[in-house]
Amino acid sequence: MNFRTSSEEETVALGRSLARLLPAKAAVLLIGNLGAGKTTLARGIVEGLEAASADDVSSPTFTLIHEYGDRVYHVDLYRLETEAELATLGLEEIFDRDAIVLIEWGERFPERMPADRIEIRIEAVGEDGRVITVDGLPLRPSGEART
Ligand code: ADP
Ligand code: MG
Repeated sequence: MNFRTSSEEETVALGRSLARLLPAKAAVLLIGNLGAGKTTLARGIVEGLEAASADDVSSPTFTLIHEYGDRVYHVDLYRLETEAELATLGLEEIFDRDAIVLIEWGERFPERMPADRIEIRIEAVGEDGRVITVDGLPLRPSGEART
C-alpha cells in the first residue's frame, strides 16, 4: 500500500487510519531518515488505537520505550549501538505480548525483529511531502475487531 501526505497533520491522520488495519498483536517497523516522520506517524497510530491522544505521544529517543496501557509500545532504537545494549531492553518479552509494538530504527537490528512484521517506510519528497509505503499487513486483521 502506498500513501502520500503533504503535511504533518495529514501524516497523523494517516496513522489514525492505519491503526484500524493492524492486528491486535504486531511488530511495526517505522523506517525512514531522521525527520522523515516516523514519530509523527506513530502519534497518529497510537491515537487511532485509542491508547493515548496524539498530543501526548512523544519521541522515545532518550527513554527508548514508551508504553501506552498494556497494548501499545513505542520504541526508538536510534541511540543503541550494539546488540548487547539492545538485549538489555527486554524487547523479546514485549514482542511476546498481545500488543502492538511500534519500532523506530528497528531495521538497524533486523535479526532481532520478529520475522512476521509490518514495515512502514517514509520518504521525504520536498519540504512537506512524504511517500509512505506499508508492507506486510495481514489481508484481514486478526483477533478482535476494532471499531
Ligand atoms: P522522525 O521520527 O522520522 O525522526 P518526526 O516525526 O519526529 O521524524 O519529525 C518529522 C518532521 O517533519 C516534523 O518536524 C514535521 O513537522 C515535519 N513534516 C513536514 N511534513 C511532514 C509530513 N508530510 N509528514 C510528517 N512530518 C512532516
Ligand atoms: Mg522519531
